[in-house]
Amino acid sequence: MINKSIALDNWFSPHILALKPYSSARDEYSGSEGVFLDANENALGSATKELYNRYPDPHQKSLKQKIARVKGVQPEQIFLGNGSDEIIDLLIRATCVPAESHILTMPPTYGMYSVSASVSNIEVVPVPLTPDFEIDRESVLEKLASKPRLIFICNPNNPTGNLFSANSILKIVAASTNLVVVDEAYMDFAPGASMLKYLEEYPNLLIMQTFSKAWGMAGLRLGMAFAHPSVVGVLNKIKPPYNVNLLTQKLATEAMDNSDAVEHMVSAIIEERSRMTELLKKNPLVEKIYSSDTNFLLIKTIDAPGIYQALVDKQIIVRSRHKDLYCENCLRITIGSSQENRFLLEAMEEIALQSAF
Ligand SMILES: *Cc1c(COP(=O)(O)O)cnc(C)c1O
Repeated sequence: MINKSIALDNWFSPHILALKPYSSARDEYSGSEGVFLDANENALGSATKELYNRYPDPHQKSLKQKIARVKGVQPEQIFLGNGSDEIIDLLIRATCVPAESHILTMPPTYGMYSVSASVSNIEVVPVPLTPDFEIDRESVLEKLASKPRLIFICNPNNPTGNLFSANSILKIVAASTNLVVVDEAYMDFAPGASMLKYLEEYPNLLIMQTFSKAWGMAGLRLGMAFAHPSVVGVLNKIKPPYNVNLLTQKLATEAMDNSDAVEHMVSAIIEERSRMTELLKKNPLVEKIYSSDTNFLLIKTIDAPGIYQALVDKQIIVRSRHKDLYCENCLRITIGSSQENRFLLEAMEEIALQSAF
């Protein structure tokens, strides 16, 4: 295999490679002891009981060490963002030239790839999944000739809930001369299927994971990217210096010692997922339940807009995916607590009884 690491110049925009990053106060002196009069902080304290008056570590060193150990990678292969959404945005800005470059997505998929691209005036070239939600590999491979600056593959996919074959993804990674992003936001619910083990072999592979789903820390905003150290280096160069706040770094570092609790929650959610699947199947409003490797179910109903509204009237909020490609009359329902799930099931039964059957 050709050594793609030497292709770094092709993966990022020239102006990004040439850019000299902002050097924060804490970049120039990295010791933790001293009299710190360098960052215009308030040395007297905070307006809160807990102290937050010092800027956080811009390189998140201790958190990265913990993550590296848990994930079996080197700290230099980790980039952390203020949620995966920040990483998506940084990746697009690092690789694309506005009004010139394009990226490739595979709808129906996560909406932020195209929103972030549009914000930067980057064209999005969609290569739809097949109607049964598999990657249209031949079409993707054909489109590589136009050199999309990024390819986004969401695996398992949101909103369809399914896992793609690793083989299909690897064929695309191997054939691409640019970066391929595999968004593994839901991978904790599909144990064993992560593509982290292919990082060494494919330097143009970037894998995103998040603390927002299985780890239960959506409110703290922490996303992870795993990639070749030179790719991480470019992202570090363009990120806002203090993008991951102090509290998030502290609590996420603590959370890394609690992966047993996460495993328990994941098993409980997977169990609820199969229970919900069985019970929803019996509801006459439901035509089909797609198989899920995530913490949500995509269901095809007889009338998604109507059922969505009827649920809202009962103060139960789900997501309508009715307007997504191949998702006509589909609702996406997060697996909640067993009580929340019972509320949903009861509401669906009531709506079925009230509708004209
Ligand atoms: C929820 C989700 C994320 C997570 O985004 P954060 O910014 O880390 O909360 C990323 N990708 C997909 C596909 C998601 O569904």
